[in-house]
Amino acid sequence: MALTGIQIFKLLPKTNCKECGVPTCLAFAMNLAAGKAELSACPYVSEEAKAMLSEASAPPIRPLAIGSGENVVRIGGETVLFRHEKTFVNKPGIAVLISDALPEAEVNSRLKKFKEFKYERVGLTLRPEMIAVKNESGDSQKFVTLINKVKSETDAALILMSQNAESLAEGVKVCADRVPLIYAATNGNSEALANLAKEHKCPLAVKADTFEALSQLSDKLTGTDLKDLVLDSGSRTVRKAFEDQIYIRRAALNQKNRSLGFPTIAFPCEMTNDPMKEALIAATFIAKYAGIVVLSNFYGESLFPLLVERLNIYTDPQRPMTMQQGIYPIGSPNENSPVLITTNFSLTYFIVSAEIEASRVPSWLLVMDTEGLSVLTAWAAGKFVGDAIGGFIKKSGITEKVKHRRVVIPGSVAAVSGDLEEELGKDWEVKIGPREAAHLTAYLKLGA
Ligand code: SF4
Repeated sequence: MALTGIQIFKLLPKTNCKECGVPTCLAFAMNLAAGKAELSACPYVSEEAKAMLSEASAPPIRPLAIGSGENVVRIGGETVLFRHEKTFVNKPGIAVLISDALPEAEVNSRLKKFKEFKYERVGLTLRPEMIAVKNESGDSQKFVTLINKVKSETDAALILMSQNAESLAEGVKVCADRVPLIYAATNGNSEALANLAKEHKCPLAVKADTFEALSQLSDKLTGTDLKDLVLDSGSRTVRKAFEDQIYIRRAALNQKNRSLGFPTIAFPCEMTNDPMKEALIAATFIAKYAGIVVLSNFYGESLFPLLVERLNIYTDPQRPMTMQQGIYPIGSPNENSPVLITTNFSLTYFIVSAEIEASRVPSWLLVMDTEGLSVLTAWAAGKFVGDAIGGFIKKSGITEKVKHRRVVIPGSVAAVSGDLEEELGKDWEVKIGPREAAHLTAYLKLGA
């Protein structure tokens, strides 16, 4: 049972030192009870109190990881119902279903799509991460062969699906190092699968058709010391499955219901045969509130929008998207190519770099860390001003790449040129570029 704010307060040091970021221990206790703060933010909690508060301070939805190496899918850990309240934490894993009853050509086609569908956007690589391997044939040898094939050809985080506990045991044996999700424990097989999950330290999906049954099963499994569970409410109509997602999220967050405090899995692949409808259903579950979304197949025209939707929803609304500070070569520049500078707000970078590309004038673009602020905002905040820009240019290493000493600054911050020249010294020439990035193409074509 979760503790109330007052109960937590009684266990805190009550010094109101403010080091946790709030003015009083009581405010911190209230935040902790609401899942809006982490116990580690208070450095003065005694070990004894820590032990007692561990349940209260645990995220209301347990975070867990599936997969290994560079492709680990982290799900759960959410603390809010709505993204604008704080942020969503762990984006849902997107999986494609591959059954051992499929013809080999179709298996190969899905694996090829899994490997090839990767997209660069705002400096990030968007891709699906998971493959759900389903034992539809009933033949455990076929299941194991398919798991081995998927494992050897991809880095996918795996979901092993079978109604047969023995087949699952055979399957887990060959890919335990990948930390697969075992799907799914039901009333009939929960003991066998709990033992399997514990033996191989794998997360376990739990499936039941009512919330009551789901809660009972999850309690039974956590009672055996199994901690990493994924919930499947069993609904396969869009409306009911959508309602279930909301009910589970609200129960975990608002009612502190630990039995339902786990990430969920949704199966749009079992809700329609129409690929476009399936994409729309998947989009719904990405928004609310699946931890894993399983698709029947990947199509570029629907996968890309789903990945972008996921990116947008799981981006912290309080932190602008940023590029890494550094030197970005655009179009194979050389030692005589122009040098331009801008800020590290992603959108600014993409507008500026697109204009440079359109000009076909190979250039060096310096991107300066302004904490994600755009040019004018960064200037107004004192982060994109002459001495700071000059300091960055000198440290950037650009002088090792070009013979000349000219830099083009955005025309909108022409006012910084004097200070910048002073900071850089007399060897440098500061050129004022166009006020609007849209005019950069013409500016470069005319010879920067
Ligand atoms: Fe209280 Fe700890 Fe916060 Fe200090 S850091 S105000 S002791 S909760």
